[in-house]
Formats: sequence, structure tokens, C-alpha cells
Amino acid sequence: MAECIFCKIAEGSIPSKKIYEDDMVLAFYDISPEAPVHFLVIPKKHISSVNEVDEENSKIIAHIFTVINKIVKELNIAEGGYRIVNNCGVDGGQTVNHMHFHVLGGRTLQWPPG
Ligand code: 5GP
Ligand code: ZN
Repeated sequence: MAECIFCKIAEGSIPSKKIYEDDMVLAFYDISPEAPVHFLVIPKKHISSVNEVDEENSKIIAHIFTVINKIVKELNIAEGGYRIVNNCGVDGGQTVNHMHFHVLGGRTLQWPPG
């Protein structure tokens, strides 16, 4: 996707503060953090949102969660707790139309969201 900012981050043409990368996914710090720890995990292949998930491409989501599991331990937020967020569509507050999972931690988070 030529105009997708997260595709550009995945291919490296827009820089990011990377935490983890493999052939399928990239994890990087959010540019505008909402918690002491706030990073994003994206598939390198463009998937617009959870609305586009199917039996074939959903394997990436299981992989994303195993990557999150590894990173939260490395960043020492596993024990204290954290939140994984996926915003989908306009009402869900999605602003970048390349599926991504936010991971927020390092402070007590409020619930419910607004
Ligand atoms: P959404 O609102 O779509 O769920 O989340 C998009 C997130 O991407 C926001 O938290 C925003 O701060 C982050 N973001 C937008 N542009 C960039 C960027 O160029 N670099 C990084 N690292 N994060 C970005
Ligand atoms: Zn994209």
C-alpha cells in the first residue's frame, strides 16, 4: 500500500524506534505514548483492520500475541500487567488503516475507555 504509513514503517522508509522484528511482524514504540510503555505490533503485510481478518491471514494474529508475550517480559511489564488494544474503524477510533495492536503498561490503566 503506497500511501500507508505503517507499510512504510514496516519497509523502513519511515524510521521508527524498533523493539522487535522478524519476517512477519514489527514492534515499535508509539510516537505519541499514552503510558510509560506504549508500543505497537503490526503485520508487515498490509491488513487494513480486523474486518479483513480471515482463516488464512489470522495466523499472524497468533504470532503477534506470542511476540507481545516476549516483549512484555523484556520490558518488565508482564507481572504488573498491561493492556492490548485494537481500534477498528471510525467508531473504534482507528486512525491508521493498517491493523495494529497497541500494548500499554507501566501504570494503572482506567476502565472503561471513553
Ligand atoms: P489508532 O488510533 O489507529 O489505533 O493508533 C494509531 C497509533 O499510531 C497512534 O497511537 C499514533 O500515535 C501512532 N502513530 C501514528 N503515526 C505514527 C508514526 O509515524 N510513528 C509511530 N511510531 N507511531 C505513529
Ligand atoms: Zn499498510
